[in-house]
Amino acid sequence: MNFFDFILHAIFPDRCPFCNKVIENYEISCKDCKDITDEYTEPIFSGVNGYSCVSSFPYNSIFRKSIVNFKFYSKPYYCEKLAYFLKESLAKGYQNTNFDIITYVPMHKYDFKNRGYNQSELLAKELSNLTGIKCANLLNKIKRTPSQHSLKLSERKTNLDGAFELSHPSLIQKKSVLIIDDVVTSGTTLSSCCKELSKANPKNICCLTLAKTS
Ligand SMILES: [Zn+2]
Repeated sequence: MNFFDFILHAIFPDRCPFCNKVIENYEISCKDCKDITDEYTEPIFSGVNGYSCVSSFPYNSIFRKSIVNFKFYSKPYYCEKLAYFLKESLAKGYQNTNFDIITYVPMHKYDFKNRGYNQSELLAKELSNLTGIKCANLLNKIKRTPSQHSLKLSERKTNLDGAFELSHPSLIQKKSVLIIDDVVTSGTTLSSCCKELSKANPKNICCLTLAKTS
């Protein structure tokens, strides 16, 4: 640790992304939470409308609490620690795929302004730092929509119609694309994003999330 990092760490110590306890900068979580995360060594596989999806944790207990705090209670810095779990799930869940580019589920500009950050973008950028795979914004959310979890299943299916628009299609033609989101529930959001990305003829598209609801 250089002097600048030392001072920075003294003022803003690293925190466990699950319980917010102060931890050493080389730790990913506190020891108590590590005992829990260590029980989830295997990624969770699922499918999103024909696209494969890998998740690090079930969306419950400390994982749910962490993501809620990360997303809704101004803890964007949790992304630095949480991205390590994505990196591990990427290595185990997609060991036969070499991804060319990482992207993320975008937020509408008004929602982005309200929150101040896009949690999926932060995770994607951090994962890019950890893996060396380039990260790019490939989608824009052009329609403001009610959040998926506030809708009935029948409404969820059409809520996101026309919500996403492809940007930079030339970046992904014949490329392997990995798209990041924080949580996968019904998969409608990721599925809509994959559908839009597929218009640029990528080689393949896979999804990676921190958590999956049961
Ligand atoms: Zn903890």
